[in-house]
Amino acid sequence: MRIVRTVRELRETVAAARAGGSTVALVPTMGALHEGHLSLVRAARAEHGFVVMSIFVNPKQFNEASDLAAYPRQEERDAALAEAAGVDLVFAPEAAELYPEGFATTVHVSGPITETLEGANRGAVHFDGVATVVSKLLIAATPDAAYFGQKDAQQIVVVRRMVADLGIPTRIVACPTSRDDDGLARSSRNVRLSAEERSRALAIPRALEAIAAAAAEGEADPVALRARGEAVLEGAGVDPEYLAFVDPDTLEAVPRVSEPTLCAVAARVGEVRLIDNVLLGVAPEQREESVK
Ligand code: AMP
Repeated sequence: MRIVRTVRELRETVAAARAGGSTVALVPTMGALHEGHLSLVRAARAEHGFVVMSIFVNPKQFNEASDLAAYPRQEERDAALAEAAGVDLVFAPEAAELYPEGFATTVHVSGPITETLEGANRGAVHFDGVATVVSKLLIAATPDAAYFGQKDAQQIVVVRRMVADLGIPTRIVACPTSRDDDGLARSSRNVRLSAEERSRALAIPRALEAIAAAAAEGEADPVALRARGEAVLEGAGVDPEYLAFVDPDTLEAVPRVSEPTLCAVAARVGEVRLIDNVLLGVAPEQREESVK
């Protein structure tokens, strides 16, 4: 496995792989790899001959300087994990490689899909940063497909819109959320939770499970479903920033959970902001297919 730091080397390596007959997949990450990232690599590996992983802690998508500063960085460990999972090439640029002196362009996706949920709570800067860096990565790596995690469901909706609008010829693949045995969605930020915070954080997946169970029993009123989830969160002293029931494509609030509905939650536990979601109105065994 090679590690390159420049767009030029990335392009040359990808071109050589293509010349050898391989299709190319990209797995964009911010490093501090965990099993969730590696599940994306395995999905990419199953469908493509050449797998590129980008590792870049994108300063433009952080709305809090303290979160950027505290974001875990562990490149050597990441490289070993990436290689073992089947990555062929790691692209790990310095910030100046992607945002050189004079960089003045922002890719802005407008409308409800960026203004709600994470957009409403983290500000426009977050999805501007995501759209700008993902478009740069897709232009640099020109992959046939790029793999993203359903844990960041809104990010997938925004990236799909951007790719369609800009005519970027990359297929966007959504992969299921990978969870620890106790149900907590894997996240690079989880290492910052104390043992006590981690056990309180479990209220997040439990709240989603309670909501999914009530929805499966026929409860279709978002107000009633939210109350079920809030009871679980409150029991653990977790105060959600949002607990929303939205259309999975438009991200607009739904009046009833009659069609597939995304139930998305964000909450701070201690200093750590966590997000998670579940797709309602879809049989558990079909959830995976429904996000592809
Ligand atoms: P990040 O490094 O947090 O920017 O994440 C890089 C990619 O991995 C994104 O597409 C995330 O949605 C995805 N990802 C992060 N956590 C998980 C998880 N627990 N399960 C599946 N995908 C994940």
